[in-house]
Amino acid sequence: MPAVGNPNRSPVFRLVTIASSALGSFILGLWWLQTGFGEGIAGLSGQAIGAIIAGLCALAAGGAAMSFFAGVDESVDYVVKETHFDKLTGLLSRPAMIARIAEAAQSTVRTGEPVFLLDIDIGRFKQINESIGFNKGDELVRAFAQRLKASLPDNVVIGRIAAGEFAVLYPDAYFTMSMEVIADRLIAELMEPYDLVTHQQSVNVSIGIVALPKDGDDPILLLRRSNLALQHARAAGIGNWAVFHPDIGRVADYRRWVEAELHGAFERGDFDLHYQPQIDLLKGRTVGYEALIRWKHPERGMIPPMEFIPIAEETGMIAPIGEWVLRKACRDAQRLPEDCFVAVNISAVQFMTRDFVGLVGDIIRETGIEPKRLELELTETAMMQDRSRAAVILKQLTEMGVTVAVDDFGTGYSNLSYLIDFSFHKLKIDRSFVSRLETDQNSGAVVSTIVGLSRALGVDAIAEGVETENQATLLRAAGCDVFQGFLFGRPAPLKMTDAEPHSARVQSARSVSVH
Ligand code: C2E
Ligand code: MG
Ligand code: MG
Repeated sequence: MPAVGNPNRSPVFRLVTIASSALGSFILGLWWLQTGFGEGIAGLSGQAIGAIIAGLCALAAGGAAMSFFAGVDESVDYVVKETHFDKLTGLLSRPAMIARIAEAAQSTVRTGEPVFLLDIDIGRFKQINESIGFNKGDELVRAFAQRLKASLPDNVVIGRIAAGEFAVLYPDAYFTMSMEVIADRLIAELMEPYDLVTHQQSVNVSIGIVALPKDGDDPILLLRRSNLALQHARAAGIGNWAVFHPDIGRVADYRRWVEAELHGAFERGDFDLHYQPQIDLLKGRTVGYEALIRWKHPERGMIPPMEFIPIAEETGMIAPIGEWVLRKACRDAQRLPEDCFVAVNISAVQFMTRDFVGLVGDIIRETGIEPKRLELELTETAMMQDRSRAAVILKQLTEMGVTVAVDDFGTGYSNLSYLIDFSFHKLKIDRSFVSRLETDQNSGAVVSTIVGLSRALGVDAIAEGVETENQATLLRAAGCDVFQGFLFGRPAPLKMTDAEPHSARVQSARSVSVH
């Protein structure tokens, strides 16, 4: 940090001030002595005592003056340190970063050399912070900042602009590869798990990018635009980046609308559950139903879960919504055939809430569902947030008799070591592999490998998103016999009539729907 002096006080000014205060004290001492001590005390003449006192006064006054000015300098230093730098990470603070963006904007206008502003965000940092505790949250931010710094060229300006959000000014001249490659690499590096003192923490990272001077020269506007790009990236899923373009504003407006509407929608009872069957071809019957939330807005109609679940996670609305889904699905299970389970999607945020296991236990007791008829679908991301805690929760759920399926398997983490630590019962092969089966041989190899892995681990495998006969045939060839997908039944509201015999529904796997 550069030395910071008080601009109003030059060294000469200080010297004059110190000297004059010392001289003043000296004269004052002399005068006081002449009037107060007269002929002297204890064998010392009045002048001698006067000289001693005056000397002491001068010393004290000089010292006081010096410490006063040093103190002023220290406090200026202190204030600058407090406001200019972020205490936790040592990076620039938000106000300092805004000043640097303003400088960069001015210089790009002058030189014509572009600079990129990157808005880098730790996904759902607020929830992570609440779930792991503020001290560990701080530890995570520090580790993240260190890694960010290490991943960027030395002269790049970096600031922490919000709790889990960082800004970077990256001049085009520093690019050794394309922005696409830089952003991809940065995300990959920042998403590697963090070794905290107590556990390994995974994070989702999104980046929003604006170009100076193209996207503006006002620092606040630039930050708003990079944040819009960031929200766009975040909405697209895990580990994405996006570059600002004017249409992004509309997407952000929609997100704000969803956020504002969610609470009212929940109170109004806009939500419902649809159920999609899971078919075991070896058993020749439907073995379970996945509950999928549906939001029917009175004016806008159906809003897909992928558009509101991430926002509900960010705003905390996922807690009441998730609880409602779990309770309703367990109640609805009474109206499903007894030999079928109900599968409920559990969001990462919900899974990590303080007493998730307690909530599951309460709902099981309240609704009377047999625990083995309840399956919880969790993504790898949910499990990896805090591995050791996740392992404990999964063990407790298994001890309760509840089944756990790893949803969207194959899309999350390349490091499979977590499979050893976690208690789970099923791998759900992600739809992306199934949809490419017919055109891409590698997908077939991936499916066979996942089926082999599930066998080796002694757990079940199910393929999701099965749409064609051909896919089903290829899946069977790869060793997978349990399916979920439009080929066997679309998600539908639960309208089962008690009179309808179960056998009628399961005779033709293809036409199974919950009607
Ligand atoms: P998911 O858990 O992987 O659910 C499967 C998604 O694939 C569902 O989309 C389903 O409608 C769709 N699908 C099923 N078969 C096919 C098929 O053959 N082809 C295609 N193209 N799609 C198929 P949906 O209902 O839009 O849900 C999307 C995601 O939203 C779910 O993915 C899940 O992650 C989340 N979600 C849905 N309901 C809930 C819920 O109640 N709670 C939570 N936390 N998340 C939910
Ligand atoms: Mg699912
Ligand atoms: Mg899935």
